[in-house]
Amino acid sequence: MLNVTLIPCYSDNYAYLLSTPDSDEVALVDGCEAAPIVAALGGRRLAAILATHHHPDHVGGNLELREHFPAAAIYGHAAELADGQRIPGQTIGVADGEAGSILGRRFLALHVPGHTLTAVAFYFPDDGLVFTGDTMFGAGCGRLFEGTPLQLHTSLTRLAQLPPLTQVYSGHEYLARNLQFARQVEPANVAMQQREQDCLARREQGLPCEPSTIATELATSPFLRCDVSLVQAAVATRPAELQAELSPVEVFARLRRWRNSF
Ligand code: ZN
Ligand code: FE
Repeated sequence: MLNVTLIPCYSDNYAYLLSTPDSDEVALVDGCEAAPIVAALGGRRLAAILATHHHPDHVGGNLELREHFPAAAIYGHAAELADGQRIPGQTIGVADGEAGSILGRRFLALHVPGHTLTAVAFYFPDDGLVFTGDTMFGAGCGRLFEGTPLQLHTSLTRLAQLPPLTQVYSGHEYLARNLQFARQVEPANVAMQQREQDCLARREQGLPCEPSTIATELATSPFLRCDVSLVQAAVATRPAELQAELSPVEVFARLRRWRNSF
């Protein structure tokens, strides 16, 4: 069994500490920022860091963490290893579909380009967990910094096909704002409304809104609902977006642009 502990970093990032009941060895998803992570380790030994993508708010602590734990392996997409270390300290490159193991737990690397071209989601099939970085957020998705709408739509569609009860841990606490946006897109979606109430109640108590599940995302993320006629209709009524017969990818591209200016 894999335990997941949230470590808030910067203003709204999450690093995730992975541990097992009977070991002092731990692993990390995203070495965002060294100080809060070292504090959360509480003297346990860091064996590995899984880097979802190269952005500084996700890898900013890597080198300092490696100073504390020189033997820690740092995983990222294989192209980054070949390309000259946009992921500081990276030691291992993974390709799409590649299997690996940390803390004795099996994971699969899923290449999910779009937010960046080398973004990776780490899926733990035996534990029912996926770490999506900035590719899939609660009711949202990352901006298209490097990839195309088709790439990010394809990546999200792929993640959405994981088993419905898979727990989704994303890189940022963006849920409240994303649900505000989702409400503009689908005002009558009851699942969205309930999730927003739940999220606001949690935030008022200072609690995180992570994790989610694939089933919840399918019901409440407009970015996973580009084939739903109400979402298509909402996008089509946007000024400058007046076009009939949009494909799901075109709906996705317009939704993402709309969210950019929301
Ligand atoms: Zn990012
Ligand atoms: Fe980020």
